[in-house]
This record gives sequence, structure tokens and C-alpha cells, in this order.
Amino acid sequence: MANTSSFNIANLLKNLNETNEIHSTFRLEDALDLSVVGVAESTEVDLSGTLTSITGGIALSGNVSTRLWQICSSCGKKTEVPFKSQVSEFFSTGVDDDEDFEEDYRIEGDEIDFAPVVRDYIAASVEFSPRCPECAVSGFNTQTFRDPDDDGIDPRLAKLKDFLK
Ligand SMILES: [Zn+2]
Repeated sequence: MANTSSFNIANLLKNLNETNEIHSTFRLEDALDLSVVGVAESTEVDLSGTLTSITGGIALSGNVSTRLWQICSSCGKKTEVPFKSQVSEFFSTGVDDDEDFEEDYRIEGDEIDFAPVVRDYIAASVEFSPRCPECAVSGFNTQTFRDPDDDGIDPRLAKLKDFLK
């Protein structure tokens, strides 16, 4: 299967302020392994959103979804879980020695590659103490231990409420 994580932007580069819709499905060529979570080799990734040509490069705005594996921090079981994230990134046409653009993804030729962006988003958003669905339900969970009498009012405001009675 061809690597379709690259998207041709020749048309966008020629037309400032032009927006292209993207609906891209591709497979991550290399596995991502962050020890307790990761993405298996050749996992399918969906990316949809828009690419807009702006001064200095191309802006990406959209949603990415794929599947991760994770190892439960309680029972050690490996499970597959869906991953979804909003993405907002800038691909720079700037030259390599421009230090202001150090954090950007660079445009090489007429194509941008979504794979590095997806990998970075996964690495930045994953939970490093994941729990399998069973442990998440049975184990200690702050949601479960929430005081049922707590009506969600800030205690400081509750005092004010009493004062106004
Ligand atoms: Zn577990």
C-alpha cells in the first residue's frame, strides 16, 4: 500500500488564502512505542479537516482518529482503545536556518506528510497510567468517589448564597 499520509499542496502554495478539505486515511508505517501505550505498525489513521494557505506556510485544522494499544497500570492487560484528537498545526515553507520556525513542521517540495504530526499528537495526549475498561470501572476512580450531595456550587459562592437568604 502506498504511503498516502502525504498530501500534495502545490495548488495551495500557489493560492494564498485557499482552503482545501482533506479526508485522508493512511497507515502509520512505523510502530510507535511509548512503553505503556503505543500504536501498532500499519495501524489505520483517519485525518479530516482543512488545509489553508497562509503567509509562510499551510495551516492544518482537523480531527485525527486511530487505535492505540495500552497496558493497564493496574492489571497489566494489553487492550486496544480508540484515540481521537483535534489537531491544529502549521507547516512552514520557511528555510531551515530560521530559528523562529524551529517548532514547525516543514514543507518539503509540494507535499506535506501528516504522519509525523499524528505521531506527535498521540505522544503528547496519551495517558501514561492507562487502565483497561474493567479496572477503570472497578478501581479507584475520582468520578465514582464524588460526593453525591455536592451540587457543584463553589463553597465560597455557597456562603454568599446563605448570606443572601
Ligand atoms: Zn486492568
